[in-house]
Amino acid sequence: MRAVRFHRQGPPDVLQIDELPSPEPGPGEVRLDIKAAGVNHLDIWVRRTLPRIPVPRIPGADAAGVVGAVGEGVTDRQIGDRVLLNPGISCGACVRCVQGEASLCSSYGIYGESCDGTYVEQKIVPASQCFPLPPQWSFAQGAAFPLVALTAWRMLVVRGRVQPGETILILGAAAGVGVLCIQIAKLAGLRVIATASTEAKRALCEELGADHVLDYTQPGWQKEVRRLTGDGADVCVDYVGEATWRDSIRLTRPGGRIVTCGATTGQDPSADLSHIFFRQLSILGSTMGSRADLEAALLAASRGQLRPVIDRTLPLTEAAQAHQLIEDRAVAGKLVLSLE
Ligand SMILES: [Zn+2]
Repeated sequence: MRAVRFHRQGPPDVLQIDELPSPEPGPGEVRLDIKAAGVNHLDIWVRRTLPRIPVPRIPGADAAGVVGAVGEGVTDRQIGDRVLLNPGISCGACVRCVQGEASLCSSYGIYGESCDGTYVEQKIVPASQCFPLPPQWSFAQGAAFPLVALTAWRMLVVRGRVQPGETILILGAAAGVGVLCIQIAKLAGLRVIATASTEAKRALCEELGADHVLDYTQPGWQKEVRRLTGDGADVCVDYVGEATWRDSIRLTRPGGRIVTCGATTGQDPSADLSHIFFRQLSILGSTMGSRADLEAALLAASRGQLRPVIDRTLPLTEAAQAHQLIEDRAVAGKLVLSLE
């Protein structure tokens, strides 16, 4: 079977196709025959810079496919089931896991980062990691949804506790997580101010329901946020990091909250402590989410309230090209690798 791996960290062209033996599931496991793998920004970090990544490594956190074989004792999944993969892995036994808070487990990991990932034709996973693929979805849609939906749901609903009528500012909103944040915020009854850099990305934000869409490459967009909100947004979503942190702090109202789940442009912005304490801001960290968060997002999706947004689908052999497109920020929504 084919897999995309890198044998050393580096630029996109370190990704290569390798031939590997077909794996067999053990007790409690299934063999997922992957038909589509989602590409996330996480995959870029793992390939490029993340420390302590053993090589060779198969990147990829998201996948959808068909159960191809079941191990001993598996009763809730059958050969032929169309499923998508929960990208988060936890011990299942510690107090936080038992409380349903898997993403707070001290051994929490993500496929592709903590172990081999999903850019591969067949993968052995615990049966419990597989969720039914919504029947109306293609495999590509199934692979474009879990990581970003889980992340966005937890950020807004669980950590941000967004309320109807509030205003949310979403920076770089056409990114994979952002397109889910817009949809969840609208579903929760918020007014959405989104920022995006290109005409196509802004059109996508509008199509997803954003009330105001601003071009952050143009000077003065911050003034427009102030005009729309008075003293700032109730909630601000920032996964951009260094490039936007100063704006996030200044464009959130006194007593408001900033939710962060990433730092694509750098992790060490000015702390701006005087703004944080004087204006009584809450800074809320969020990472991935629990099984219940993914189930809630999938339930909303099954009712047509949330949908995956796919920029384009490329064959598995073009994984390097997919990574380059993400590094060039030439993607609105998600890129998916097809293995069909
Ligand atoms: Zn645990």
